[in-house]
Amino acid sequence: MHISRRNFITSLALGSAAALLGISDRAFATGRGVVVVGGGSGGATAARYLRLFDPTLRVTLIEPQRQHQSCLMSNEVLAGMRKASSLQFDYVKLSQLGINVVHDKVVTIDAEKRRIKTQSGDTFPYERCIISPGIDFRWADIEGYDAQVAETFPHAWNAGKQLITLQQQLQSMQDGGTVLITTPKPPYRCPTAPYERASLIAHYLQQQKPKSKVIILDANPTFIDQRGFKQAWRRAYHFATEKSLIERQSGAEATVTEFDAANKTVITQTGQRIKADVINIIPPQQAGNIAATSGLVDESGWCPVNLLTFESHQKSNIHVIGDAAIVGGMSKLASSANAQGKACAAAVVALLNGRAPTAAPLIETRYSIIGHELALSSNAIFKPTAEGHQLTQIPEESTRKKVKPRPLREFYNAHSWYNNITQDIFG
Ligand SMILES: Cc1cc2nc3c(=O)[nH]c(=O)nc-3n(C[C@H](O)[C@H](O)[C@H](O)COP(=O)(O)OP(=O)(O)OC[C@H]3O[C@@H](n4cnc5c(N)ncnc54)[C@H](O)[C@@H]3O)c2cc1C
Repeated sequence: MHISRRNFITSLALGSAAALLGISDRAFATGRGVVVVGGGSGGATAARYLRLFDPTLRVTLIEPQRQHQSCLMSNEVLAGMRKASSLQFDYVKLSQLGINVVHDKVVTIDAEKRRIKTQSGDTFPYERCIISPGIDFRWADIEGYDAQVAETFPHAWNAGKQLITLQQQLQSMQDGGTVLITTPKPPYRCPTAPYERASLIAHYLQQQKPKSKVIILDANPTFIDQRGFKQAWRRAYHFATEKSLIERQSGAEATVTEFDAANKTVITQTGQRIKADVINIIPPQQAGNIAATSGLVDESGWCPVNLLTFESHQKSNIHVIGDAAIVGGMSKLASSANAQGKACAAAVVALLNGRAPTAAPLIETRYSIIGHELALSSNAIFKPTAEGHQLTQIPEESTRKKVKPRPLREFYNAHSWYNNITQDIFG
């Protein structure tokens, strides 16, 4: 096993963290190892709960970024309701819990040898590995739109720099301009976020540029929580009237297949050409690239897993959670990734200790901010079968069908929820 100087120093530091937690240095030196790849909503939760459930476990979290940029609440930045700096989270609390946090990018996961290699050449053996690499984009699906073009016409679907570019473009747009948001076919990260984004851009326009409007070009005939959104848009933005700040087109006519960057024009499946002043293309998606290069995806581009343990159907001892995984009817959300992170950590601890994992409910919570003091919420509860072959929704516990905008209450609940979940993820 290769141990670099940096890993050696981290191990020494970890020894002191272990002492502080009352865990013997020997337990650290000889403890079983779990490596978690990706320190976003799913990975950071899993790493944290592995240590909380079994403090003798050696847990390493590998994540390239020193600061996580949250997509949650990122649409509020576009509306001028929040600073982008409030979306950043570091890994200090996770390190203090005794997790070996390594800032590097994983380049290979060798399932046979149970060994991970990083970009800087370090090697990490594992007994079990959990990966939560999020999403990547299917660039080939929209001709003329790729990673480079996205720097100028940002998707802003990973927060960070592109979110600021999109915000600046909205700020420099003339009053009377058109903002275009295009949505892909499912599955994609956060199925309500395009509509929340349209709402919050409409909020900004209403305050600053009231002659402008937002057009949603939607590849989907219907969308999740749509009844509540439409009710809220009618209430706040004159939706479905001549004065509406939001317009939505759907179906093949609204499915974008091509982008003409020079003319700021999108072209749809039926040949419709739409020009706009600010263009936000949300591209079709797939599991984060490391999942594909490690042989964890199926023909859909996502990772099939056992729904009790999240162990990959393709490779033993590797568990996949978060957006990258196919988890029955659960939406690709931070709340889902957080629930899966805990369930997966519990299953991995059970398996490493020779116990059978037990089925626990997984709760998905969704808040969508519509404007100032106006928001929607819904939740859904799922339970895996004992063998993890299926995930059933518990119907009477789910509120998806009853979603409606409630002024004040949901808006303030949403912000408390955000504070609580980010604390649950990053400590
Ligand atoms: C605009 C918007 C608004 C949203 N709002 C909400 C909301 O209100 N509520 C909600 O629940 N969800 C929301 N989401 C969805 C939420 O952001 C995602 O579902 C969630 O982040 C998924 O967690 P994850 O762990 O799968 O991926 P991520 O949180 O993206 O984490 C993946 C991590 O893996 C790392 N990684 C990738 N490849 C490697 C590699 N090779 N080696 C090491 N590390 C790697 C990345 O750097 C990243 O940090 C929103 C999303 C968007 C786009």
